[in-house]
Amino acid sequence: MAGMRFLVSAGPTREFVDPVRFLSNRSTGRMGFAVAAAAAAAGHEVALVAGPVELPPPPGLAALDRVVSAREMLAALRSRLAWCDALVMTAAVADFRPARRSARKIRKGAMPEALRLVRNPDILASLLPRKGGRIFVGFAAETDDVLGSAAAKLARKGLDLIVANDVTKPGAGFAVETNVVTFLAPGAPPEALPLLSKAEVARRLVARVEAIAARARRR
Ligand code: C5P
Repeated sequence: MAGMRFLVSAGPTREFVDPVRFLSNRSTGRMGFAVAAAAAAAGHEVALVAGPVELPPPPGLAALDRVVSAREMLAALRSRLAWCDALVMTAAVADFRPARRSARKIRKGAMPEALRLVRNPDILASLLPRKGGRIFVGFAAETDDVLGSAAAKLARKGLDLIVANDVTKPGAGFAVETNVVTFLAPGAPPEALPLLSKAEVARRLVARVEAIAARARRR
């Protein structure tokens, strides 16, 4: 199905302790940028919400929001949700943030031995009440029981599709140009893809989303 509107999140989030220190993760944004590029190349309108990444923006975007923290990412996605037909949550959102952000750099001697953390909002869960007829796609980066935990996440988060990958596999996960993923969708057998470039994984993901949209339209 051509002419859909894709809202894609990409990259890590940063959760600041003070003006110079933050908690984050190893995400580089490559997978999310590849999804945005593939959707645009397939003729869809694409809005990309990106955490701090070094990559050049893919061509043909309808919009690009740059955000830093999980809460900013949630706000950006919330304000664009009504616009989209499909939300693809590729971002590696930090699950926790420091309970307090110091306005000034904390001196070495004043740094507490333990940082108190609080949970960040789960963005997919926060947006779920306004899902309506939209297609929601999640990613599940796992290190063990990959399919079991991805299937549980698919159900718990009410998603239409989850892209599971074992980040311990060579050629999969963070900071590489390739990925090894399995697509899981409710009521369909798992589709295990071989080692592919992130660009090819993204093309197949966009095709799956188009197929889900076409099926929903026939209903
Ligand atoms: O539960 P887990 O964090 O592994 O789920 C991963 C999926 O949930 C990804 O699609 C990620 O973008 C999304 N997520 C989210 N909000 C969070 C953490 C993860 O939407 N706070």
